[in-house]
Amino acid sequence: MKRPSSIVILTGAGISAESGVDTFRDAGGIWSKVDYRDVATPQGFARNPRLVHDFYNQRRRGMAGVAPNAAHVALARLEHAFSGAFLLVTQNIDDLHERAGSSRLIHMHGEIGQALCSNCGNRLHWPGDMDVDTLCPACHSMGTLRPDVVWFGEMPYHLGRIERALEACDLFVSIGTSGSVYPAAGFVEEARRHGAHTVELNLEPSDGFSLFAEAEHGKATEIVPAFVERLLAGE
Ligand code: NAD
Repeated sequence: MKRPSSIVILTGAGISAESGVDTFRDAGGIWSKVDYRDVATPQGFARNPRLVHDFYNQRRRGMAGVAPNAAHVALARLEHAFSGAFLLVTQNIDDLHERAGSSRLIHMHGEIGQALCSNCGNRLHWPGDMDVDTLCPACHSMGTLRPDVVWFGEMPYHLGRIERALEACDLFVSIGTSGSVYPAAGFVEEARRHGAHTVELNLEPSDGFSLFAEAEHGKATEIVPAFVERLLAGE
């Protein structure tokens, strides 16, 4: 592979699977246990905010028991060892990339460890539970806090910055994502249109597999560190 000068990496639930975080659409994944319309839409939250808080409280508590795996660590190593432009875009709301040492990172679907107040618009670090009667520490209103997570029907974060990085990159790598949720699923075509080499690293061929110039299928903890080493060696 020609040595790139600008890299964009997209990650999805599959990179955190071997850390013990459930994926969404796989058999046994989160959407086989709960209806996304109940817990991941603004309408579901309006209907039953207590149910939605319970769901995210449980997921937030679950984060304490998981740790970054070799794939997260490899991407942090790449960021620090690579001298060109680098952006890691994750669809994941967990903080495993940060805990592995990544910093040039965008959470396009928000973060489980943050709260968003619908009254004052403040985003707050939120490591504990939240409920319908929790007060917003910034504006002191009650019942206005929600997890700072992008739900279906809402606009993902930082799309302008992501778009500029995709236009400028010469290597785009998609890791552990089913390629079924837009706009992230369209990033490969955006990068290709601007001439980037495109690589899929996933357990199995994703929905958008045929759009990639190169693909490798296997466990993230095995194929991502190997890919990073090859990339840094200039092979
Ligand atoms: P996904 O569950 O759709 O796909 C996970 C992919 O990872 C699969 O293709 C699977 O083959 C692969 N995989 C599984 N284990 C792996 C491993 N060990 N190594 C490598 N790959 C592995 O998850 P996604 O692609 O991140 O999908 C984006 C998701 O974001 C959507 O499913 C959507 O539901 C979700 N989302 C959730 C929220 C929320 O929680 N509120 C908000 C917005 C979007």
